[in-house]
Amino acid sequence: MKKVNIMLEEWDYTCTDGCCFSYGTKIYLNGKELEHPNPEVDDNSYVGDSVITALLAVLKELCYEVEIDLTFQVELDGTCSE
Ligand SMILES: [Zn+2]
Repeated sequence: MKKVNIMLEEWDYTCTDGCCFSYGTKIYLNGKELEHPNPEVDDNSYVGDSVITALLAVLKELCYEVEIDLTFQVELDGTCSE
């Protein structure tokens, strides 16, 4: 079995006025900081903020071609909690 080391590094930033707050998660694979798979949208600082982006970045670095199917299932039972 092959072993990989994944490190998630969370960061946050507040500007000097205190009016802006930002945060994100960087991903390191075997010590190398991963590129954002979609650099036009975000930079490397935000790779770990979404499961899909994180999976894409990691698997791309490992030389896999990735296909992700996203499904969202909600079950409603029609009863109210109140
Ligand atoms: Zn500010």
